[in-house]
Amino acid sequence: MFKILGVDHIGVAVGSLNEASNFWTTALGLECTGDEVVAEQKVKTSFNPTGNGSEIELLEATAPDSPIAKYIEKNGGRGGIQHIALRVDNIEAAIADLQAKGVRMIDTKPRYGAGGASIAFVHPKSAYGVLVELCQHK
Ligand code: ZN
Repeated sequence: MFKILGVDHIGVAVGSLNEASNFWTTALGLECTGDEVVAEQKVKTSFNPTGNGSEIELLEATAPDSPIAKYIEKNGGRGGIQHIALRVDNIEAAIADLQAKGVRMIDTKPRYGAGGASIAFVHPKSAYGVLVELCQHK
């Protein structure tokens, strides 16, 4: 058994974290809490809390074969919402439970996510076209 605790963050693919901050931090006034390179996923991320426990995660590709580079290419060179992350209370239980329900997982084991979270992606084919990230903070 597992429980969804809320929307943890929305992952937004951008061509450049610096350029995107003109909107997300300067215009909207969100505070960027820092950048992190997640080498395994070939991304550089920045987290921008919205004040209610949810965050906007900006994602920049660090390699041409990064999932973010592929997303931007598929999206005609533009960024956009790449994934939605749901906070769960127990990620191992969530993966096992969803698999038992026939949901296809990209990650069948939790992996490292930005900020030290444990994350696992659900395949978009099982989520009606949405890339869903499950995320548990320690
Ligand atoms: Zn994410």
